[in-house]
Amino acid sequence: MKSKGIVYLIGAGPGDAGLLTLRGAELLGRADVVIYDALVNTDLLRLAPKAEIIYAGKRCKDHAMSQEELSGLLVTKAREGKCVVRLKGGDPYVFGRGGEEAEELFDAEISFEVVPGISSSIAALNYAGIPMTHREHSSSYTVITGHENPAKDGTNVDWSKVAKIPGTKVILMGVQRIRDITAALISHGLAAGTPVAMVRWATTGQQQSIEGTLATISDEAEKAKFSAPAVTVVGDVVKLRKKLNWFEKRPLFGRRIVVTRTRDQASQLSKQLLDRGAEVLEIPTIKIVPPTEQLQFAEVLLDLNSYDWLIFTSPNGVTTFFEMFFKAFEDLRDIGGVRIAAIGPATAAKLKELHLKVDLMPEEYVTKKIADAFKKYESVENLKMLLLRAEVANRELPQKLEELGAIVDDVACYKTIPESEDISGAAASLNESGADWITFTSASTVENFHARFNLPALLKKFPGMKLVSIGPETSKAIVALGLKAHLEAKPHTIEALVKVLETAVKK
Ligand code: SAH
Repeated sequence: MKSKGIVYLIGAGPGDAGLLTLRGAELLGRADVVIYDALVNTDLLRLAPKAEIIYAGKRCKDHAMSQEELSGLLVTKAREGKCVVRLKGGDPYVFGRGGEEAEELFDAEISFEVVPGISSSIAALNYAGIPMTHREHSSSYTVITGHENPAKDGTNVDWSKVAKIPGTKVILMGVQRIRDITAALISHGLAAGTPVAMVRWATTGQQQSIEGTLATISDEAEKAKFSAPAVTVVGDVVKLRKKLNWFEKRPLFGRRIVVTRTRDQASQLSKQLLDRGAEVLEIPTIKIVPPTEQLQFAEVLLDLNSYDWLIFTSPNGVTTFFEMFFKAFEDLRDIGGVRIAAIGPATAAKLKELHLKVDLMPEEYVTKKIADAFKKYESVENLKMLLLRAEVANRELPQKLEELGAIVDDVACYKTIPESEDISGAAASLNESGADWITFTSASTVENFHARFNLPALLKKFPGMKLVSIGPETSKAIVALGLKAHLEAKPHTIEALVKVLETAVKK
């Protein structure tokens, strides 16, 4: 009898997380176990929040799991009744031994489904500005493994035949042997001047590409110190790169940028940077947890109707406040007729998601301007204000409001604590190779980043690395470490931060 377990062999796509299929994303969400390979973008693992995550690829020092061990693991987990996702780079059936894995599952009578992925053999060309076929240049394509030594007899690839096939030729796994492969193609009659391109880490922020001809590409590859993973394209379609290279022309292409926000918040900034072609290292240094004084918060909730104003200073404040609120109340109307102030457009946007009207949003987010905005709105004398913020936030704002005669309860609805996990390996990668820019979006991201990495020491190690701050408070925290923010966003928003980076890179 077949067990209840099932294995989904899923193509993760070539690297850009956005190139996973909807079916793949849906199944990752259901997975109890995910077993993934070296070329899989680890950001995708976040789509499988409840799964046990197992790495099956090879990392520098340790050995990869053998194919038998791997198949054994798939079968064992499925027999335990689990929903197992086997996540493979590109398409599972293109040089990924997916066929063999599926056969093993068939033999073991395990149910399986195979979800296609976008193969690097397709995507690497596109992201390097090369169409696979084109009416004027090529009406077929051939995908070949370059893994085998062309100089040896008895290999599966007959390069004398490959040289004679018309159309575009795409070679995977061939970086090490590129000199032998190009020599074999030329010796079997392909013109030495045939255009060739090689694309490394295609579709990711680390993408690199080089161009030449059959005669020159191996020297180019050596010069550029090209190594796996890379795809080699041979054929006239390579000439179209000049016009069609949309990806590498993006404004932040080739820049390595660190995002230090919390996991939940990072996506907005990361997405904007990725859209502009940057390589993003998401290294959240803080995470949001309930405040130490939960009792105080619970009491405030019971007394909510006594306040004239609720003041939110961050999207986190909104999220955590309403999480607690809905534990205490079932109905949003229990918030009463209180007026609501939001500091900053992101905070206001979060409130709007709840269909709450923001009565006041100060134009500028520095203490004095906030106080002025209240004064302009109404006299706050003897009005009760509930300031909902992070624990240990600075006392300037409540003091200023008290000076205006308001009665301010400054209540923590969350606190930030250091984040130390590194599933994606981004933190290790930063320590090893540095980055072009580190973005900071609050004083606490600076402080916590420093606690984890020792910011001055890191900058000493990578002197070319620069810091970007979202505003004066954040810059102050950078200055407190004896450093300076090379760029500061104005206005103090994510959009402006991205813009200021884009402008700096253009110069
Ligand atoms: N199933 C995968 C291929 C696995 S074989 C697919 O469909 O893409 C591994 C080879 O794929 C690498 O040696 C390299 O040639 C190619 N490859 C995979 N991802 C790549 C990427 N992001 N950029 C360039 N080449 C890649």
